[in-house]
Amino acid sequence: MSSIKDGTMIILSSPSGAGKTTLVKLLAEKKNYQISISHTTRKPRENETSGKDYFFTNEKDFNDLINKGEFLEHAKVFNNFYGTILKPVKDSLDKGQNVIFDIDWQGAQQIKNKSLKYKLITFFLLPPSKEVLFNRLSNRDMKDKVIVEERMKQFNKDVLHWKNYDYVVINDKLENCFNEICDLIESDTNKTKNNYNLKSIESHVSQLIS
Ligand code: 5GP
Repeated sequence: MSSIKDGTMIILSSPSGAGKTTLVKLLAEKKNYQISISHTTRKPRENETSGKDYFFTNEKDFNDLINKGEFLEHAKVFNNFYGTILKPVKDSLDKGQNVIFDIDWQGAQQIKNKSLKYKLITFFLLPPSKEVLFNRLSNRDMKDKVIVEERMKQFNKDVLHWKNYDYVVINDKLENCFNEICDLIESDTNKTKNNYNLKSIESHVSQLIS
């Protein structure tokens, strides 16, 4: 049983380009919320800082962390490795801090399977349409067309994991999406009613994959 003082684990996953990073940063501004900073073997993008956006590392050091059993979860995403170190997460949760995870579906599944003592709420973010997704990916600092195409292809596969999440939220307008997530966290925590509409999510997903 989780004690009252423990924080909640909040996972946000999405296909790349659904606008998750901005949302995660907004959520982290809430009182008692903090972001779990992942390790990755990916090279930093412009404006990314080690220790703030990620802990950028090489494959050897990443493998050492795997072998030492330091990761709560880790996965290969788009040819790079990403992982969450358990200790800082546990320390924060034990202090009553809510921890937000910006991780992919593989990591979300691993954390779910671990059945830790902490409350876990999982969100899957979707773009309003494939067109919006394409534009978001193209406008990023990585102007590499090959990467955009690769991520669009990956989208069709990633989207299918929506069923394994507690809630699916469509990131059309940032403010609405943020408010919806906050409301869902509150209603889930307090076991009160919410406006979550699974039917409309199902029809949105079928549009996205048609
Ligand atoms: P990006 O390279 O664009 O920052 O992230 C690519 C993908 O890796 C995103 O879907 C992001 O959520 C995911 N990701 C980032 N950190 C982690 C992590 O620690 N574990 C897992 N499983 N996925 C991560």
